[in-house]
Amino acid sequence: MQEKMNENSKPHISVVIPVFNEEENLEELIRRCLDACSPMGTQFEIILVDDGSTDGSSEKIMTAAKQNHGKVVGLFLSRNYGQHAAVMAGFAESKGDIIVTLDADLQNPPEEIPRLVNRIEDGFDVVGSVRISRRDSLFRKIASFMINKATQKATGVMMHDYGCMLRAYRRHIVDSMLKCNERSLFIPALANSFARNTTEIEVKHDKRSEGDSKYGLWKLINLQFDLLTGMTTFPLRLLSVLGGIISVVGVGFGAFLFVMRLLYGPEWAAEGVFTLFAILFIFIGAQFIGMGLLGEYIGRIYYDVRARPRYSVSRVVGRSNLEELKAPGSKSKTG
Ligand code: UDP
Ligand code: MG
Repeated sequence: MQEKMNENSKPHISVVIPVFNEEENLEELIRRCLDACSPMGTQFEIILVDDGSTDGSSEKIMTAAKQNHGKVVGLFLSRNYGQHAAVMAGFAESKGDIIVTLDADLQNPPEEIPRLVNRIEDGFDVVGSVRISRRDSLFRKIASFMINKATQKATGVMMHDYGCMLRAYRRHIVDSMLKCNERSLFIPALANSFARNTTEIEVKHDKRSEGDSKYGLWKLINLQFDLLTGMTTFPLRLLSVLGGIISVVGVGFGAFLFVMRLLYGPEWAAEGVFTLFAILFIFIGAQFIGMGLLGEYIGRIYYDVRARPRYSVSRVVGRSNLEELKAPGSKSKTG
């Protein structure tokens, strides 16, 4: 709250919002964000990251950035890179000491921003939020439940709702995240791996007001794997433990079959052939699970080794004129 209302000072609060085809929600979103942030009496910026939208979102963002110069910043990515990459692009562009993330679909009420900021100012590094009476499909709730459990284990930080993107971070947490080179990342989990103290607040959750969820089954599965392989290599160890157990059981079973054959003769063993088949299938299954997991890691190593930019910004609107004139694509991040 120190650098109050000084037009030239850097913003104290940055609100980062990824936008992918959210045309119908943008006007209300921007209005409600401005209404929520203005009374806080401190410099703020609302960064709308257009994640390669194909509807009228880009124009809407452009207009808002021009109308609210200095308060609304439009960041246009060259194509669709996904929600988390878009948020990272917004992070890199943000200048505030406190960074708040939010979804563009108005499921998270922007009115909660001041509460999040207050909690950060109470001395927390990361403030998460728990959606009370969540308005999503059962399938989504089950997926989230699994994500939450996995993340709690991997980061060792008990947060109840890792899926809710209405969150606030201190600058240094965001800076640490920006230093991470990997491309497949899950921001809430990553943030907690850098945070000393975290807390949560309860927030309302609304139905998506317009448009459809951008997360289908496939994107959700992808997110699960990003989380699993991004946060821990424990599954690899588990794989060898599991392999060990299976082979011990296999040897035991082989010995058992051998003894039974000696005692009851070959007729009994002939039926055992089918048991062997069953065992074989278990082995094959285990191998495939193992290979699949290894593939996940190798796939990610492959991506990181190629070191392609996580995103490339084609244009920034709403900053001083000098910056706007920058050549397109000149701000790509190689990490
Ligand atoms: N989003 C994005 N890029 C994508 C998918 C989603 O920037 O490829 C944004 C989207 O515009 C929204 C947020 O990420 O602001 C969350 O998306 P959505 O509401 O579809 O996810 P859900 O609420 O179903 O988890
Ligand atoms: Mg949503």
